[in-house]
Amino acid sequence: MITADLHTHSFFSSDSSEPTENIVRAAYERGLKTICLTEHMDFDYPGGEFILDTDKYRAELARVRDMFAGKIEVLFGVELGLMDTLAPRLYEYTSGFDFDFIIGSSHLVDGADPYYPEYFGKLGDRNGILRYFESILANISVYDNFDVYGHLDYAVRYSRAKNYSPADYRDITDEIIKKLVSMGKGIELNTAGLKYGLGWAHPHPDLLRRCRELGIEIVTVGSDGHKAEHIAWEFEAAGEILKAAGYEYYAVFRERKPEFVKIT
Ligand SMILES: [Zn+2]
Ligand SMILES: [Zn+2]
Repeated sequence: MITADLHTHSFFSSDSSEPTENIVRAAYERGLKTICLTEHMDFDYPGGEFILDTDKYRAELARVRDMFAGKIEVLFGVELGLMDTLAPRLYEYTSGFDFDFIIGSSHLVDGADPYYPEYFGKLGDRNGILRYFESILANISVYDNFDVYGHLDYAVRYSRAKNYSPADYRDITDEIIKKLVSMGKGIELNTAGLKYGLGWAHPHPDLLRRCRELGIEIVTVGSDGHKAEHIAWEFEAAGEILKAAGYEYYAVFRERKPEFVKIT
């Protein structure tokens, strides 16, 4: 069982309407020891959505942390939408807050969100997924202030590719993984894939195994829950998925430093 959910959203993220205390209460009721809120901060998102009022968020988190003191640990995180063009602004932003944990994620590829059908409609499945991975490599070549890369093959969720095989993208994903290893960064196991009926958690088990083979040591586990009922989604399965890929430990970040916890 995994007892720390390190990827969650509350109403500070514009795609969630759940009060922060409900997220924390759900985590406590599910028996977690640690929860990290990782609200969205996506600069340059079309329409200006996903800009986080970080001061307000931090203040509310302090209030909720007090409310649950002695019951569950509450950590201060952020999920940053990365693009190579944003690097200077991301450095400036992250230096202004004492985050426990920073997830770097790709939500936009060349300014377009793969969530919307236009993305794969224009590029097709194969090139859409390839371009998504290429953009990750570009992001981490110019920006390094994050702890783990989020939902590594997230775009696949929105493609119509029924037969996605990570082996088809191995050249580019190996480059990403090797670069992350050289930077001392980790990845996350994101169980939202199971929630959305993909049948697997991000990254795909073959890609997760490849991360292990190429030397990624740090893996956090997150539900990517935007509602109370999604917190710790399939965390029993998550432990088994990690073990099957060769991992014996998952990581919990505090003040940007990983602690390794044995998977029981
Ligand atoms: Zn995300
Ligand atoms: Zn998220």
